[in-house]
Amino acid sequence: MARKGRMLYEGKAKRVYETDAPDLCIVEYKDDATAFNGAKRGVIAGKGAVNNRMSNVFFRVLEDHNVATHFVEELSERETLVRRVAIVPLEVVVRNLAAGSMAKRLGLAEGLELARPIVEFYYKNDALGDPLITDDHAEILGLATPADLAAIRQEALRVNDVLRPFLAERGVLLVDFKLEFGRDSAGRLLLADEISPDTCRFWDVKTRERLDKDRFRRDLGGVEAAYQEMWRRVSEVEAR
Ligand code: UDP
Repeated sequence: MARKGRMLYEGKAKRVYETDAPDLCIVEYKDDATAFNGAKRGVIAGKGAVNNRMSNVFFRVLEDHNVATHFVEELSERETLVRRVAIVPLEVVVRNLAAGSMAKRLGLAEGLELARPIVEFYYKNDALGDPLITDDHAEILGLATPADLAAIRQEALRVNDVLRPFLAERGVLLVDFKLEFGRDSAGRLLLADEISPDTCRFWDVKTRERLDKDRFRRDLGGVEAAYQEMWRRVSEVEAR
């Protein structure tokens, strides 16, 4: 069993620890929530446990569909053993429907169905507010090669192809989501970070009620209940 060592990194929603194995880390999920590049802060009770367990369900399902992820083993309600990777400094967003920043930037109604899923790259840089960038920008900034970008785009769309029907079966519309990728010491590209109501837009298929972090971002109320409802839908059917 890997033992928790020195803290390597503390982010807005997670802490990452070294272990006694050089190629493994432990991720610990917090209840802390931020939005708008840290301008809005709060706590969502129970969020850490939901995001940890839900991410791990998704990672297992993705592994079953031959998507390589950093997931190794769930250690506790809030802690997971993962492969150590160097994160590619890109936020990779996949969209099925227009929402959030895309709806605003392009003047589209939220909920407009896109003709096909699309992928966007954002430069992971808090000081710049994570700007949307082009492939050329990513290349000249040295963030990723054209070959890396092609591989990441293809993998991101495969994640969408797996998670969209998985969620649809549970009455959830996958509107959009953000992924992060990393490379392990052998140079293998792995899906990393988390996949949770913090990083996805989940809408109830029938009512289009939001079951994700937009309830916190937009002060819609019922934040904790939405996270618990998403966990119920993802876990109950899995246990069938
Ligand atoms: N997202 C994220 N982290 C970020 C920005 C966005 O996880 O720093 C997710 C967000 O939850 C949504 C998708 O990426 O599922 C697209 O977000 P968008 O660009 O619309 O930005 P937002 O309006 O949420 O700031």
